[in-house]
Amino acid sequence: MTDRIFESFTKMLEELKIVIKRKVKRETPLWHALMFIKQLPFRYNPLLILRRKNLIPWVPNKRSIEIEITTRCSLACFNCDRSIRQAPSDDCMSLEQIEKFVDESIKLNWGWKHIRLTGGEPTLHPQFFEILKIVKRYKEINFYCNVEISTNGYGSQVNEVLSKLPQWICVINSRKKSNINNFCSYNIAPIDLKEYENSDFTKGCWITGICGLGLTKYGYYPCGAGASVDRVFGFDIGQRSLSCVNNLTLREQLRVLCRYCGHYKENYADEKITLEKMSISWQKAYEIYKRKRPQLSVY
Ligand code: SF4
Ligand code: SF4
Repeated sequence: MTDRIFESFTKMLEELKIVIKRKVKRETPLWHALMFIKQLPFRYNPLLILRRKNLIPWVPNKRSIEIEITTRCSLACFNCDRSIRQAPSDDCMSLEQIEKFVDESIKLNWGWKHIRLTGGEPTLHPQFFEILKIVKRYKEINFYCNVEISTNGYGSQVNEVLSKLPQWICVINSRKKSNINNFCSYNIAPIDLKEYENSDFTKGCWITGICGLGLTKYGYYPCGAGASVDRVFGFDIGQRSLSCVNNLTLREQLRVLCRYCGHYKENYADEKITLEKMSISWQKAYEIYKRKRPQLSVY
């Protein structure tokens, strides 16, 4: 019952957002006031405070994207939310797929604010510099788009690539020293815990709201961590075209993915762990993965 009320509330909010977008004329005082609220820092933004308190759902951020160009990594951290250690893979996105992403973005006039290349460890993609050349094509059209790479800074091969990066790329370096880190219990699926089993999973968590969408070899997702749920469980729900990505399709993906993703619990409590913990759904999924990897359709 509570979930149905929450779902109607979510729909109402999304409709309200569309109406506001249509009715409020740009450059009017009301428009400026709304823009001001939107850009307030995390701690003071009333919308973010309400979301963090779980009173309103997160809205996937469709202006930021994390592209998982490879699932290879120089580390294998406990509780990695890309399942690098738990379900290793050699997946790499092809140059054609990166071209497709850039072409779609330009054709649809999609105004990305942030494009972040991730992994695994993105610098281990064998065609890393060719990928940068392709992404630059988008950056030249949308100068204000911030292109970033997210690296663990671990190992000589990684650092050698980092030393050759062009100026226009921002580097987010977590400078990891080992595979033991303070991470969320990604592999404790909310669906396996009594207190969350009846939750409305369509509301997502801060990762889709702040970090934005995920793109992998298997298509678009509401977030990178969710894409990784699909890689292991094999629901095959990646969206193969940017033109299909909207709040409704993203919420449908959240409904499936957040059930298994430990980040969902951060809506309620901020628990960090160092050693590996896994609930029953993940244990089974990894066992099946080890025997036979799910086959997903590619982007
Ligand atoms: S460095 Fe990042 S991607 Fe690699 S295993 Fe650790 S958490 Fe996962
Ligand atoms: S709970 Fe996981 S799958 Fe759901 S939005 Fe957050 S990171 Fe994505």
